[in-house]
Amino acid sequence: MISVLRIGHRIERDKRVTTHVALVARAFGADVIYVDKRDTRLENTIKSVCERFGGDFEIYTGVDWKKTIKGWEGISVHLTMYGELLSDALNKINTRNNILIVVGSEKVPPELYELADFNVAIGNQPHSEIAALALFLDRYTKGYWERKRFNGRIEIVPTVRGKKVINHG
Ligand code: SAM
Repeated sequence: MISVLRIGHRIERDKRVTTHVALVARAFGADVIYVDKRDTRLENTIKSVCERFGGDFEIYTGVDWKKTIKGWEGISVHLTMYGELLSDALNKINTRNNILIVVGSEKVPPELYELADFNVAIGNQPHSEIAALALFLDRYTKGYWERKRFNGRIEIVPTVRGKKVINHG
């Protein structure tokens, strides 16, 4: 089971970024996303994608981030540019674990560095929670997302040019 926890979500400022964090989580192998602020519009956007494009991805907003990490039955991995090298961390993380991947938005609370089992850097340069999550999921799942089937109402068939879409009704 792969879960993502998005902390520091600001409803107006982060609406696109958090939506993309959730879409990336879904597309690249996570099963669920938790968001710290209650945001029903975000929930509806993601549920609508799931309803059309399939899969069992779930979204919960308005969760207490600290309680979620403290009560987590598995390992927690905080993605941060200050963390240890991704390759070093992956050598220590068992992929059969129930993993909670934590990403921030603005400056994250300092306590998070202590609460997380691992602080992992996707390179030590500042970039984005969307990119960090995508790269982590790709490496953690060893590219499994490419073979994953979503069995959605809408199916996109890979084509060299143009758009081929099957609507399964
Ligand atoms: N400056 C903020 C801080 O000190 O926490 C981070 C802001 S950054 C735009 C938002 C999020 O992107 C971070 O909380 C982290 O999860 C992720 N992030 C950005 N760069 C990263 C990196 N090099 N490695 C891992 N995660 C990164």
